[in-house]
This record gives sequence, structure tokens and C-alpha cells, in this order.
Amino acid sequence: MSVQVVAAKMAEVEIKDVPGVGKEVPSGGSPAVTPSPEDKTPAKTIKNEPLPQHEVGSSPATTTTPAPEPFSVKAEDPSCPGGFLSPTNPGKMPQASVLKQRPEPQQQNGGGGGGGGGEAFVNRDGTVAEAPRMKKIQFADQKQEFNKRPTKIGRRSLSRSISQSSTDSYSSDSSDDETSPRDKQQKNSKGNGDFCIKNIKQSDFGRREIEIAEQEMPALMALRKRAQGEKPLAGAKVVGCTHITAQTAVLMETLSALGAQCRWAACNIYSTQNEVAAALAEGGFSVFAWKGESEDDFWWCIDRCVNLEGWQPNMILDDGGDLTHWIYKKYPNMFKKIKGIVEESVTGVHRLYQLSKAGKLCVPAMNVNDSVTKQKFDNLYCCRESILDGLKRTTDVMFGGKQVVVCGYGEVGKGCCAALKAMGSIVYVTEIDPICALQACMDGFRMVKLSEVIRQVDIVITCTGNKNVVVRDYLDRMKNGCIVCNMGHSNTEIDVASLRTPELTWERVRSQVDHVIWPDGKRIVLLAEGRLLNLSCSTVPTFVLSITATTQALALIELYNAPEGRYKQDVYLLPKKMDEYVASLHLPTFDAHLTELTDEQAKYLGLNKNGPFKPNYYRY
Ligand code: NAD
Repeated sequence: MSVQVVAAKMAEVEIKDVPGVGKEVPSGGSPAVTPSPEDKTPAKTIKNEPLPQHEVGSSPATTTTPAPEPFSVKAEDPSCPGGFLSPTNPGKMPQASVLKQRPEPQQQNGGGGGGGGGEAFVNRDGTVAEAPRMKKIQFADQKQEFNKRPTKIGRRSLSRSISQSSTDSYSSDSSDDETSPRDKQQKNSKGNGDFCIKNIKQSDFGRREIEIAEQEMPALMALRKRAQGEKPLAGAKVVGCTHITAQTAVLMETLSALGAQCRWAACNIYSTQNEVAAALAEGGFSVFAWKGESEDDFWWCIDRCVNLEGWQPNMILDDGGDLTHWIYKKYPNMFKKIKGIVEESVTGVHRLYQLSKAGKLCVPAMNVNDSVTKQKFDNLYCCRESILDGLKRTTDVMFGGKQVVVCGYGEVGKGCCAALKAMGSIVYVTEIDPICALQACMDGFRMVKLSEVIRQVDIVITCTGNKNVVVRDYLDRMKNGCIVCNMGHSNTEIDVASLRTPELTWERVRSQVDHVIWPDGKRIVLLAEGRLLNLSCSTVPTFVLSITATTQALALIELYNAPEGRYKQDVYLLPKKMDEYVASLHLPTFDAHLTELTDEQAKYLGLNKNGPFKPNYYRY
């Protein structure tokens, strides 16, 4: 494979700025900044008193959790408070170089060994205050203990969206016999057989998929380039359980380039791209996954990742919490050597918070799901791009002039509405929250009750994360041909169960498309049986996954390199600086040019020129 430098225009980054090395900033936050003399407001002192807990309806409870300082400040390099991965030339663009290279095959079964109060921030007026603490999340109606795991069937995490088409992207299933991979003895070209996948012969096709994904994952490629000198994950033994796709392969190969050893299983029985798994196995990764695993296969694969003589993980990268659950259940002693858990899904994060609340969490965990770079990009932009795709692929509907009602105007709803409006649809919005409702109004959407428009709309889309938003009464009143789908969590928003009654006829017209027919001949078009439309029926942009994957990589680096005591046995949000860094790594793709604060401006705003640029509570 050729090495291809795609672009190069950014500040040099020194790999030696490993987090955890060097001078620590004061516990609990960013270094205090002296207010500018121009500031009239007297500075407040930082208090480390816990903030009150908040309850918001049935939404997540919030409790205080110490916010760590992202990285240590190197005494000899005060301009680089971001540590390992921060540009040494603050304010300049991060390096745009995307080095396209095949990573070194990773060494298996060997290799090396392995806060205080709320974060301080500086107000616009220059005063220093303490940021509201991080949220601890627990859904009232989802008291799911670790021993009550969700079924793998039909469950897909929200963050690693895998489309039907992308998972079927090459004829990975058609060429194979029906023999279970567990009954096959396969070896890669170097004679390594420490993997279990569908067919190692598909590796070339998988490699091409990975190369395509690399083009849209510039930040991970940039991290690889930076890691050529010092390897911040040297000695890390990462056991992972995520969707095994081309995008994940780019992440795994990046972790390997950063020095980690990886063993991986799939977090979903349907989402593995077999040819990608083959390419990873060919590259020396111990991958245990194939598309169409049985429930038993699923746990067997996880166990094969974890249970290996002479190899013990010291980091967990999980998506859904099943891997973490398995280790808790089967190999609790492993946690003695595990330095941290990085979890990306809503479900997995809930489980971690529950463990934490019960005092059973025995290592620090990073909640990637709630980081800004996940929420604002995965939820908003991913849905803005994929809603039309999902609707088009399933129904071939034309959007111009169609009347659409979108339930919920959060990040997902905003994305859906923006896309539909741009296509010329007439968009109505329903909301329960006056703030979001006002936003919708200001954005030019009609705020209505569902009952007011249900008879006239052509498309109904739910994006609330709530349950029973579209109930049988509404379904009865919809007009003939109305398309009904869900973009929110799980399959709770549309009361699909209420449609399974004797008087209604179900007709499968396409994969993931059902006509539900009333006795008078009226039919509605139900997509993905009320499950997430885009995850079930469309692709999602690799670039968005790149942002999430980079966040995961940085979270691993941070937890792995954090000095003793920085993180306790609790669940943490990513430090703001890391979020900003993830974003900065993606800017060169757009040839975006950041403005650098002048000394005078930095002083005036009370900001460090290298960031963080916003307090933790800032909403973007
Ligand atoms: P959000 O909390 O920002 O927005 C949800 C909105 O729905 C809120 O404004 C809330 O007030 C409103 N709402 C709640 N109940 C309602 C009701 N009965 N009627 C009308 N509005 C109601 O959340 P979000 O980030 O927009 O995510 C929404 C859902 O989508 C979540 O379940 C999330 O897990 C899921 N999600 C999906 C994808 C995807 O790719 N499809 C990606 C990310 C998140």
C-alpha cells in the first residue's frame, strides 16, 4: 500500500508531552487567571462545596462528580497545557497531515505491561468560579442492573451507527459456507490463528473498506502520525467491544499505532463487517466477531477476548456495557489491573452510573456519550444527514411540499427539521419544553400539538427519547399513506405493540418497511418497526464517527496515563480541553482557519490562549 500524505498545514506537535507527566495544575480545575485590570467585577473565590443535586422529571439525575483537569501542564512548556496531544503552537491550526499508511501488525500475547471539586473556570467578566458538576445519569424507568443485560437482538448503540448497507457493503455473507466460525481453524498469512471471524480470505476487501474510512477520519490519522515518536499507549492492553466496522478498524489500528495491544469483540450480533474483521485479523489483531452471531456466540467471543493465558487487559473500551458486565461477572479480579473504562453508549453509561451509585465501580470510567463532541455532532449532524437517507431508501418519498411533524426539538429533532426544511418540506414540531419550543419557533417551524396536525401530515418522526409519543389513537387518525418512523432512543416512542391487533393487517413490503392496513383499506407505512430509522435503514457519515472515535482514543490515553489519584472510582466526563482538541483535529479537513487570541484579548476575557475557551456549563 502506498503512503499518501493528503495535506500538511499545521503546527508541530510534540509527542513527548505525555499527559500525567510534569507539573500538575491545582486540583479541581484550570489554573486560576488573574482578572484583567479593566474588569470592574471583583473576582470570586473558588469554592469546592458540592453543588446541589438536580432532578428533572424522569430525566437523568445529576449529582456532583469531581471534574479532573484534563492534562498535566509541563513545567518546561507552559504554552502546552493540553499535554501530549495539544499543539505546541497554541492557536495555530493543528496539523492537517493525514498519513495514509498501513499500521504495523500488532504484537499479540506479549509486549509491555501495561479530583477534586468541580472544575474552575473564568467568567467572561474575569471572575473565577466553579463550574456546575457533571451529571450522573439514571433513568427512572431503566433501572437496569448489570445482571439484567439487554438482549443483543435489535439493540444497537446510538453512537456507532451501522447501516444495513454498510454492514452488507461487500458480499461478505454470500460467499461463505454455513459453518460456524467457531468450528473453523483459520490462520492469517503469518500463521497467527488467535482470532475467530467468518472468513480470513476476505481480508483484501476489508482493507479497501478501511482505506475508504481512513479518508474521512482525519483526526485518527493525525494521531497516528504524531505517535510515531513516543507512544502514549505503550503497554496498554485494550479489550474492546464495539461495532466492528471499517470505522472501528481505523480506531483499532490507531490505538495499535499509539502502542496499545487490542483484543476485540462485537457489541452487536448483526453489525460486524466480516471483511473488515478479516482485514483486522490479517493485520494481527485478535478479533472475535462475525455478522449473525448467536447469543451464545456473542458471549463466547467476549470471553475469548478476555480469557487468555498470559494476557490481561488493563483498559476497557466498551459500547453498551456488555464487556464490562462480563468482566465484572466472570473475572472480577481483573479489575485490579484495569486502569479505566471508556464507555460510549447511553446504555453502558447508565450502567456505570448505577455501579458508581451502588459503590461497586472499582475503576475510573469515562463517559464519552455525554461529551460535547459526541452530543453536538453525533446527535445533531449525524441525524441531519441520515434522516433523509433513511426515509429515501425505505420509501422513495419526495420531500418537497410534504407535511412533516417532528416530535421533539432537541439535538436530533433539530437535525431532522433542518434537513427536511432544506428539502422544501413543511415542518411542524411538537415539544414539551418551552425553551426548545421557542427555539423551534425562532427557527421558523410551526409549534403544534400532535393532535392538531395528525390527520394532515404525510410523515411523522419521533425524536424525543420518551415513550408512547405516538399512540394508537394517533395512528388511527393518520391519513392513508402516512409514513411513521422513529429517530429517538430504542423503540419506545411509537406504540407499535398497539398495532398488533387482529383487525389490522401487516404487510412487509420491503426490508424494514411494513404497511399496516386498517379494515377500511387505510394503510400507514411503518419503518423499522419503530426502531431508530437511521441506524436500521441508512448509513451515517464516517466523519461523525471519526469525531466520536477520536474522543474514545483520547479518553483511553487520558485514563491510561493519568497519575495516581487524578481519577477516582467514579464516572467522568471528558475534560473540556479534550473536546476542543478533538474538534481542532477535524478543522483542517475544511481548511478552517482559527483566530488566535491576542495577549490583550486573552487577558480581557480571562482565558488561557490555549483554551479551554468555554466553561463546562457552556451549551454551544
Ligand atoms: P434531547 O433531550 O436533546 O431532545 C429530546 C427533546 O424531546 C427534548 O427537547 C424534550 O423536551 C422533547 N420531548 C420529550 N418528550 C416529548 C414529547 N412527549 N413530545 C414532544 N417532545 C418531547 O435529546 P436528543 O439528543 O435530541 O436525542 C433524542 C433521542 O434520540 C434520544 O433518545 C437519543 O438517545 C436519540 N439519539 C438518536 C440518534 C440517532 O442516530 N438516531 C443519535 C443520537 C441520539
